[in-house]
Amino acid sequence: MSEAAQPVSPLKAAIVQVTPFQQNCTLLWDEVSKSGVVVDPGGDLDVIERAIAETGMKVEKILLTHGHIDHAGGADELRERLGVKIEGPHKADIILLEALEKQGKLYQIPGVRNVTPDRWLDEGDQVRIGELTFDVLHCPGHSPGSVAFFNREMRFAHVGDVLFNGSVGRTDLPGGSHATLIQSITDKLLPLGDDVQFICGHGPGSTIGHERRTNPFLND
Ligand SMILES: [Zn+2]
Ligand SMILES: [Zn+2]
Repeated sequence: MSEAAQPVSPLKAAIVQVTPFQQNCTLLWDEVSKSGVVVDPGGDLDVIERAIAETGMKVEKILLTHGHIDHAGGADELRERLGVKIEGPHKADIILLEALEKQGKLYQIPGVRNVTPDRWLDEGDQVRIGELTFDVLHCPGHSPGSVAFFNREMRFAHVGDVLFNGSVGRTDLPGGSHATLIQSITDKLLPLGDDVQFICGHGPGSTIGHERRTNPFLND
């Protein structure tokens, strides 16, 4: 007698911490097709490329959650190295993406380039990773053009710097708004379901339910 085989999730993830901001550059790939994406290659591209090689995945595209330097600073060069396209964030972050080089000088991070995505994303759009489809959620507040990516079947989201384990994104940077951020989380992320696991831009991930119950910023 043998037990029935459990369904194995074809969605795999690996995190590479990059930049002095310890940003979670995330590799997401479909184990069946081995096609994958690099989410938020903020910098340290040699480290990212080594991690890609270890997974054995073939990079299809680069996704950006928003326009801050720790997330987008290395995107233009990685696009060139890999010969792929960049999708996201929402166009409202264009000002940030055009000021990356200036930010690089300010924070003394070498190699940072301004970047123009190949495709802007908006609420209701979808992006593909291998055979998997992700819904795009426009979640302004941390930055005007922040987006999250949600795969309904796998109960998984990548939320960038919108929501963290025990915290929420900072809103003191240009274009930030705390009220707008809380509204984005309340209207777009919490309704995804308590069982949804997420990866975020900094620190460990969590589930929507854990944050809904315990996150002090959502329980004032
Ligand atoms: Zn950010
Ligand atoms: Zn960040």
